[in-house]
Amino acid sequence: MDQNSLQNDVIDVCLRRGIVFPTAEIYNSYAGFYEYGPVGVKLRENLMVLWQQTFINSEDNVHEISGSTIMPEAVFDASGHLDGFHDPLTQCNKCNSMFRIDHLIEELGLEILDENSFNEQLKNNEIICPNCPGVLSEPRNFNMMFKTNVGPLEGNTGYLRPETAQNIFINFRRIAHSMRASLPFGVAQIGRAYRNEISPRNFLMRLREFEQLELEMFVDPDEINNHPNWVEVENIEINLLTRQNQLKNEKPIKITIKEAFDTKLIPNQYIGYYLALETMFMESIGISNNLFHFRELKENEVAHYSSANYDLEIVFPFGVFEVIGLAYRTDYDLKKHSEKSGAKLQINQPGKGNIVPHVIEPSAGLSRLIYAVMLSSYVYGEPNSDRDWNWFNFTGAMAPWEAAILPLMKKDGMSEGAKELYWQLKDYGLEVIYDESGKIGKRYARNDEIGVKYCITYDYDSLEKDLITIRDRDTMHQVQIKIDLLPDLIRQLILDILTWSDLENEFGRFK
Ligand code: ATP
Repeated sequence: MDQNSLQNDVIDVCLRRGIVFPTAEIYNSYAGFYEYGPVGVKLRENLMVLWQQTFINSEDNVHEISGSTIMPEAVFDASGHLDGFHDPLTQCNKCNSMFRIDHLIEELGLEILDENSFNEQLKNNEIICPNCPGVLSEPRNFNMMFKTNVGPLEGNTGYLRPETAQNIFINFRRIAHSMRASLPFGVAQIGRAYRNEISPRNFLMRLREFEQLELEMFVDPDEINNHPNWVEVENIEINLLTRQNQLKNEKPIKITIKEAFDTKLIPNQYIGYYLALETMFMESIGISNNLFHFRELKENEVAHYSSANYDLEIVFPFGVFEVIGLAYRTDYDLKKHSEKSGAKLQINQPGKGNIVPHVIEPSAGLSRLIYAVMLSSYVYGEPNSDRDWNWFNFTGAMAPWEAAILPLMKKDGMSEGAKELYWQLKDYGLEVIYDESGKIGKRYARNDEIGVKYCITYDYDSLEKDLITIRDRDTMHQVQIKIDLLPDLIRQLILDILTWSDLENEFGRFK
């Protein structure tokens, strides 16, 4: 399949089916803002739950908070964002278009050198405006934070947070005390972040308002190579693109977490542990290990606060993109906030007194992950076959609805019976949707298109014999079972306790 059509087709479904659409679409709005519609909200919720299951609920020492998105200037002065959170901007002298210089250089297939040489690279490579033959200006740094004024008086400068992490650092003392936490412990947050990107693009990949799922794991630096759950993850295989591989233009290597640690390809066990958890999380949302790799960032790419970074990158049709970052932030943030605020952001470590912990941070972007899930789950129907429509083969956990409840026809009490079943399944805690308009084949196609996992048809057999038909989205096979078995069987299917072929083996295929 042509890669551009894949992108266009996925965007088309998003708009038509209420998954995602541009903000303030009926006005001439800005780029980089999107809304989740009724179907998109379900994908968003499912992704968040899966992230919480992997990064919070699988541990007994990770706590979740939800912080403000606007904070005083002092916070971002201390964190370094005021001085350092900028991208290199250039502007065309003819059409006034603005561009990120590193992106222009990258798109021309040239290697990005450090930011001091951007001007030289523009000149030496005779890079001109991509939209017209205009000349590009000398680079200047553009700070990406949105600035606002808080309250009626001028001068109360606030900023919309460019990452969720800072709330966690500045609340460190309260959280640690209230949860009686001792090291190691983590604080997680899911919430909005804002970046005034120079050129938002690629649909959901580069937005100006987006959601992050971040975890700050606080660790005694002397224990950084002693992760309590190390043996549970050490045999997990990852695709690793080291700095050496990148220098030599090599492909990522397949390696276990243990081997990577033993051969010093990763700096510590906590980094290894989170590379493994990220791999498990990606599999839970339906993106298998062979579609992504972890790239060790080069020295000139590492953020001001970090001593090591591993980006989880997916090879998309339109280029390689980071969807989750993993940073070793050391004690940078807690120290800076302690210095600037005077608050002692420390914790007692038995036998050592008060220490400033080190931080490991996995940081994911929701919209990029959702787009990645959609691109990798999109399946094309075969013209002139039983299924000539396109559809998403989402996993049960990602599907916007677990099942659609469809009366075969509206007459003879089938609508009423199907509606009753719909409420019964909802009361049982299943995510179901009711759909009675149009021919049954059209309704299968409509629900396949947004990735609903099962279609449940209420027909004359349901009215007369208490039997119900379940159709599996992926195989289009059906089984017929007693209605009272339905809630539990659907739950077992969604939780992967039961597979579709188990069900067919037990009840036989229904034709
Ligand atoms: P990039 O280099 O692509 O701009 P970044 O390195 O600045 O990304 P981080 O600061 O590591 O990104 O942010 C963590 C995660 O937040 C990213 O992995 C990504 O999924 C998400 N993210 C960052 N910027 C954006 C954006 N503009 N739009 C959507 N998601 C974003």
